[in-house]
Amino acid sequence: MTDFSRSRIDMVDRYKRGGYIQTKQMEEAVLVVPREEFMDPRFRDYAYIDRPFPIPGDGRQTISAPYMYPTTYEPLKLEPGMKVLEIGAGSGYGAALAKELVEADGIVITVEINKETHAFAERNLKMAGYDVEVILGDGSLGYTELAPYDAISVTASTPDIPPPLLTQLDVGGRLIAPVGGRSMEGQDLLLVHKTEIGLTRKSLMKVVYVPLLGRYGFPG
Ligand code: SAH
Repeated sequence: MTDFSRSRIDMVDRYKRGGYIQTKQMEEAVLVVPREEFMDPRFRDYAYIDRPFPIPGDGRQTISAPYMYPTTYEPLKLEPGMKVLEIGAGSGYGAALAKELVEADGIVITVEINKETHAFAERNLKMAGYDVEVILGDGSLGYTELAPYDAISVTASTPDIPPPLLTQLDVGGRLIAPVGGRSMEGQDLLLVHKTEIGLTRKSLMKVVYVPLLGRYGFPG
């Protein structure tokens, strides 16, 4: 049997050296979440390899490469008690990590458009013991019921930031999204900060994500 905890410790060391993991909180969160429980069973042994893997759905879903989570969550500055919205539940791994960071007082809601993937995320989160709400629906519309959010993480490539997400972001809140081409063309990972005087946008790096569908995403 593969020793996953050893692989997880090695991965955290690698990501600290590489500058992906910057805070103690992030280190602890990545050490705690069993990524293998969020893999498609076919690829379970590859849970700690630095690349994305397919998950159940219609062929357009992946669990992102493990370094993409600290890369997107460190700039969002997730803290205990925050309310976080994730667009694209996928495997549920990102939601589990967010839940570790916002702790018991915090709230994590994740939206998934694909029915099979939604069921996969929900099952994985439940099995791993995470109290996260997994909504089946079009996340490009956000989730008005629990808005406003302290942080929003869009985990699929989008032609532009969906306007409802900017509306549902609280003042002082941060949003991160891969904005640009549909998939392999690549995107800019944009960090948006909503302040009293408006929005600031910063491009952090080039990334490649699977496409966002729905009303403000790419045509299906
Ligand atoms: N965050 C995930 C990875 C997501 S991959 C994880 O940690 O595993 C991107 C996901 O976004 C896919 O599952 C895809 O089905 C979903 N998706 C695409 N368009 C969507 C939309 N409009 N609303 C919600 N989910 C969407």
